[in-house]
Amino acid sequence: MHIETLPVKVAGDPFFTVNCYLISATAASDCVVAIDPGDQAEVILKQIATRTLAAIILTHGHYDHLGAVTELVEATGAKLYIHQDEVANVEEGYEAVRKGFFRFLKFVNPETNSYDNPAATRAPGVAETLTEGELLELCGLKLRVMHTPGHSKGSLCLYASDEGVLFSGDTLFKGTCGRTDLGGSPAQMHDTLARLATLPPRTVVYPGHEGTTTIGEELQRGLSEY
Ligand SMILES: [Zn+2]
Ligand SMILES: [Zn+2]
Repeated sequence: MHIETLPVKVAGDPFFTVNCYLISATAASDCVVAIDPGDQAEVILKQIATRTLAAIILTHGHYDHLGAVTELVEATGAKLYIHQDEVANVEEGYEAVRKGFFRFLKFVNPETNSYDNPAATRAPGVAETLTEGELLELCGLKLRVMHTPGHSKGSLCLYASDEGVLFSGDTLFKGTCGRTDLGGSPAQMHDTLARLATLPPRTVVYPGHEGTTTIGEELQRGLSEY
């Protein structure tokens, strides 16, 4: 698997970035999948260049992971995938982007002094919904859907077992887990982390924010106690 990490600035805030991952079978592959395109659609499109964006997968529906989805879908026709339990959160995420949220400084229209971002206002149509255990085969990649609630109800991780790669969204970070006070549940997070702890220690974890880690490194830090 070839992984390109784009730390896109969310809402033009220089201090807040989300990792948008572009993944493909090989560096020479013409077909790419985007995970969590949080913002800066123009940066993501430039990186995709002449390749085909076949799909966009959201690890969950928080506003910082989906700000560029509409523009990408409109520009490329890519299919959007989310977990079935996350549909309502994705709608809320779009609503947060539309309203500008408080961070969305770049969307302030100086003429009206309103936070309108017309591109983000339109949800990109119906998403394909995913369920636990499903195997997504896209662009020659095989991604197993793990339903990992805790940070949000329908948070998912994408696990490529052959490659030993896990895209963990806001469920697991280097040295900590995601917050559970944004629509999640501490009890579910506990169970989810116990499940992730059973993955092979060499598994490389690509989180929604900050740098990569491995399951082994996190086990040493006490993964189940986060
Ligand atoms: Zn989140
Ligand atoms: Zn996030």
